[in-house]
Amino acid sequence: MSQRGHVVIDIERCKGCELCIPACPPQVLRMTGEHNRIGAHYPELLSGCTGCRACWLVCPDFCFEVWQFDEPGAPGARPGE
Ligand code: SF4
Ligand code: SF4
Repeated sequence: MSQRGHVVIDIERCKGCELCIPACPPQVLRMTGEHNRIGAHYPELLSGCTGCRACWLVCPDFCFEVWQFDEPGAPGARPGE
């Protein structure tokens, strides 16, 4: 699958509300078993992010920074791939 987006998650801001998990259309976010400094579980990103920003919109604690790639796929990918 071409990688069309990427998110950077500020795990120390996360309160562990899990709103981002069902909000992600391709379901590429999942909660980890790890805790941050305030004792909250936080999400991690799997492969397949589209850069849609749904997580960024839903997160009440502004944990997400979203990147969208202009040219999906690896360097050298043809237009439309
Ligand atoms: S929506 Fe934000 S605060 Fe809630 S679990 Fe996801 S990253 Fe953490
Ligand atoms: S930008 Fe969209 S696809 Fe990527 S993690 Fe956030 S909700 Fe999921």
